[in-house]
Amino acid sequence: MNGVCLPAQSEGGKAPHHASVYDDILKTARETWQNALGNCNGCGLCASRCELFGDGIASMSDIVGSGMVLLDAIEELFAESGFDDRTISDTIHTHTEKYDKLYSLTRRCCLCNNCTARCPGAVRADRVMRPWRALYQRSGLFGTVNNDLKSVEVDKEWHLFSVYRHLNGVFYPEFIHLDDAGPGQVDTLFFPGCTMVTYMDDSVRATGKLLDDRGYRWAIDLGCCGSPLVGRGLPERVETLQRKLLDRCHAAGIKRIITVCAGCEMELVEAVGKHGVGAPEVISLPQLLVDLGVDLPESPQDVAFFDSCHDRSQSHGSPLRRMFAGCSICKLEHEGQDTLCCGAGGAVSSFDAEIGGIRAGRILEEAVAAGAKILISSCPTCAYTFAFQKIYGNPPSESAGIECRHYLELLFGIETDWSQVFARAEWMWTGEHSAWVLSELT
Ligand code: SF4
Ligand code: SF4
Repeated sequence: MNGVCLPAQSEGGKAPHHASVYDDILKTARETWQNALGNCNGCGLCASRCELFGDGIASMSDIVGSGMVLLDAIEELFAESGFDDRTISDTIHTHTEKYDKLYSLTRRCCLCNNCTARCPGAVRADRVMRPWRALYQRSGLFGTVNNDLKSVEVDKEWHLFSVYRHLNGVFYPEFIHLDDAGPGQVDTLFFPGCTMVTYMDDSVRATGKLLDDRGYRWAIDLGCCGSPLVGRGLPERVETLQRKLLDRCHAAGIKRIITVCAGCEMELVEAVGKHGVGAPEVISLPQLLVDLGVDLPESPQDVAFFDSCHDRSQSHGSPLRRMFAGCSICKLEHEGQDTLCCGAGGAVSSFDAEIGGIRAGRILEEAVAAGAKILISSCPTCAYTFAFQKIYGNPPSESAGIECRHYLELLFGIETDWSQVFARAEWMWTGEHSAWVLSELT
């Protein structure tokens, strides 16, 4: 059975197929997995690059092949008897119970793409995993274990980030906001991304001042690129959020979007690609800083760079290294195209509360092994994750001692007080507004 488009009426004269909440997901899954199967030669290189493989899963082709078995089972059931969404959900649940190792892998995957970074067939792991996440979300599998979806519904008014900003007065009234820009007032959007705009407000303000000083006509947006919804298998909501952002950019006359997070950049570049002619250019802040000839105030020594797993093309990492060219740089075992995940990717904590800390800890250990005194992140979420790991992860003393900084802190002479950030985040849940926070986020 080749296509996933279900017939209006089966050959046996069964009831017509009514629109299913699964229709788009099943269609996307089959297209994506067929494409991956066509490009995968089964060499197993991917499996050798990630500890999640094994237990009978020898390569990405096993993950994709199992997906095709599931899709075929769904189609065959329909052809035999027709069914409703409940039957599809049950079929997905049965499949995950039967192939529990595969379910575990696809839930623990942080969508980092390290496994396929050097794939000879250019298969992308995150593309393979997204349909699995969508099937899990739609069939209720995310809801069975610690469902924290409400806290990261970044397409709604209240989520972890907006609640934190609201309760801690992080509003940026001194800047022009995207939706307030008058005709012809701005042509550049500064898009810090959720983590930076919420927790690194001093760095946001310093970057804004630099843009002012260099004569940019710019606006800020406090919104999200949609990435948290990707890991939770909600592609249609990601697409809607991104389309609205680009429509708002178009209305404000935005010609370029400056990103700090490579994950935002990846999402927005893809969204712009779908949006077509007239869509804004997306550039990385490090590239802009290098183009502007911005210099570091001093050259720290023994630094290592941690590249975001979304930055395998090095649109942030390469200019960053040029900016720090006067420093002695310690090379991590995994960097650039071969970088690992900081531990924050892929919404894995809702399935495995430990694995994020393990991933963050191994990066700190790599930095220590490389002889680094300072671990510099280009991505604000990586900086957040390493700070959290140092404070709460109880790492061994050698890696607990390493300084973890975002490059903007070193550029602007700022030190983000992560202990205060985490204390404020905790207070959200326990302080005087906790009843409201709990009602909005759980
Ligand atoms: S590295 Fe690429 S071609 Fe080789 S098994 Fe993995 S996905 Fe297939
Ligand atoms: S994307 Fe990352 S976590 Fe997922 S299978 Fe590949 S290397 Fe492992």
